[in-house]
Amino acid sequence: MKPAPFEWHAPEALAEALALKARHGEEARFLAGGQSLVPAMNFRVSQPAVLVDLNRIAGLGDIAVQEDGSLVIGAMARNAAVERHAAAAKIHPILAEALHEVAHPQIRNRGTLGGNLSHADPASEMPAVMVALGARFVLRSARGEREVAAVDFFLGPLTTALEADEMLAAIRIPALPSRSGTAWLEVTRRRGDYAIMGVAAIVTRREDGVCAAASLACCSAGPTPLAAPKAAASLVGTRLNEADIAQAADLLRSEIEPTGSVQASAAYQRHLAGVIAARALATAAGRAA
Ligand SMILES: Cc1cc2nc3c(=O)[nH]c(=O)nc-3n(C[C@H](O)[C@H](O)[C@H](O)COP(=O)(O)OP(=O)(O)OC[C@H]3O[C@@H](n4cnc5c(N)ncnc54)[C@H](O)[C@@H]3O)c2cc1C
Repeated sequence: MKPAPFEWHAPEALAEALALKARHGEEARFLAGGQSLVPAMNFRVSQPAVLVDLNRIAGLGDIAVQEDGSLVIGAMARNAAVERHAAAAKIHPILAEALHEVAHPQIRNRGTLGGNLSHADPASEMPAVMVALGARFVLRSARGEREVAAVDFFLGPLTTALEADEMLAAIRIPALPSRSGTAWLEVTRRRGDYAIMGVAAIVTRREDGVCAAASLACCSAGPTPLAAPKAAASLVGTRLNEADIAQAADLLRSEIEPTGSVQASAAYQRHLAGVIAARALATAAGRAA
């Protein structure tokens, strides 16, 4: 099928893009990599009257490490650029680890991190990774700028906290303390498919090896990326041995809300979540050491 008719604007200035979105509101969509929006338009699932193409705006895809060690990724950074960014890989290796599982290289070459997060597919890897990392999203509009924690950005399937005139401009990811380890693990039927279940695990150890902090979040586990705060809290103060991790994995199973799909029942997803959470935690704990 072909898309319904639409107006196309390709501004070269951010202010112009924001003014267009302010003028057209819900009738307009930003076009980033087009890897989700264009198929949806071709199927006429999405019929925006106006497209505001962000591809000609300079600087929107910059990736930079700040003085405080945090990483700031411009929304238009291609997923492949983030995956291959040396400084990003050093600070947050989980980004490349999870991005490697997002679709296929061709789609990652074109698709952007901002587009992926704004699309807010609960089966997507990066929203869960951002929740686990405690990322904050910079939202911009002609009215100004505000920041939202990743955990508050995702409101439901394909639904975010973005107002009708707002764009996701950048993603800020705080640095992790030293002796932190991270891991992303997922199960798919075929390479490049959306995950049946995916888990991001982050642990920080004290000098004596005891767990000082932990964070867990899953994709395909509910209507949004879901954190598992009780499971993560249960690890603090432990030595992250097998029994500690098994207990956390059990708790995580009780914190998620998988609904099942054509590929897996909800019960199987829940079982899988515990299995891969335990493996991801063991890997993260090893890396933290
Ligand atoms: C075959 C196939 C397999 C895939 N597999 C996976 C997978 O395993 N995991 C996964 O996570 N994804 C997968 N995807 C989706 C892919 O990662 C998309 O590229 C991504 O979800 C959307 O990014 P984009 O830059 O292409 O955004 P677009 O398609 O351009 O936009 C997506 C939506 O976000 C909005 N938007 C874009 N940028 C902004 C912004 N800066 N501010 C506000 N709104 C914005 C658009 O208006 C649109 O509504 C797959 C896609 C395909 C085609």
